[in-house]
Amino acid sequence: MSVELPGTILIVDDEPINIAVLTDILEERYEILFATDGAKAIELAKSAQPDLILLDVMMPGLDGYAVCARLKQERDTAHLPVIFVTAMSDVNDEARGLELGAMDYITKPVSPPVVRARVRNQIELKHARDQLLRLAVTDALTGLANRRHFDSVLEKEYLRLARTRGMLSLILFDVDHFKAFNDTYGHLAGDDCLRRIGGVVLQTITRAADLGARYGGEEFACILPETNHGGAVSLAEKLRGEILALGIPHVKSSVAKHVTASLGVVTVRCIAGRSPLHVVAQADEQLYAAKSAGRNRIQALRFDAP
Ligand code: GH3
Ligand code: MG
Ligand code: MG
Repeated sequence: MSVELPGTILIVDDEPINIAVLTDILEERYEILFATDGAKAIELAKSAQPDLILLDVMMPGLDGYAVCARLKQERDTAHLPVIFVTAMSDVNDEARGLELGAMDYITKPVSPPVVRARVRNQIELKHARDQLLRLAVTDALTGLANRRHFDSVLEKEYLRLARTRGMLSLILFDVDHFKAFNDTYGHLAGDDCLRRIGGVVLQTITRAADLGARYGGEEFACILPETNHGGAVSLAEKLRGEILALGIPHVKSSVAKHVTASLGVVTVRCIAGRSPLHVVAQADEQLYAAKSAGRNRIQALRFDAP
């Protein structure tokens, strides 16, 4: 039987015996990784994203301070908590480490209960921070990205793709006659319908760089970086089909016996200096064209910059 351990700890020390001592104290509760020099520690921190790093100060080559400073400079490691493990007990050394961004200090020779307690505190804080970050980007009803996250990802992806004049596709869609659905089946059934449509988005939009979001009330959006127009249109067609296939009854719909959605799709070449807002505006126009043309359909536009 495998037991899920509550976190991964990276132990960094040039003396294997010190790694062995800390591993003994912690391995029962945590998954342990280790590195015996600073460069390997930075590499492993990046690739393994541990929940905590126990970092020796005195090491040949990059010392603990230098490693900590580098970790804090890099985007993908800056958030990883560091505890220094050191034989030095001078307050100036301690202050230096804390100013570099370390969370705490443990002095050698280590005391097992102190190590366990300080480690547990930092791991709990890390989990709480991670949870807050997740909540800040997630729509509570559907579990998709929220509007704020959609805006920031669109901005970042557009900027990134503009460097190579790459393609970006965007799907914007809206549930048809949803006011009538709420009026007929009640607001809770409405919420449940939105949740199930969110599930369709999660299952359909599967590439790592893609993002499915709840754009607003009963509107959803998908950011599809480096996706050509044909790919985006077939994803939109799949979404339309899967939403209909949920088979959620909607007797007041003029379109079908079940809940349907209308979708707008645009594909643009990203241009440095332009704002991605025009992409949203164009997808919105397509969405409204799909509504006027009878709903439960896709309206798509391919935009190539001059
Ligand atoms: P159309 O086909 O033109 O899109 O018509 P519609 O009725 O879907 O559009 P309208 O904008 O008139 O109504 C949207 C409705 O969606 C009204 C609003 O109460 C409902 N709605 C928005 N957010 C939520 C939500 O979180 N839960 C529920 N249950 N309903 C919501
Ligand atoms: Mg609607
Ligand atoms: Mg709407």
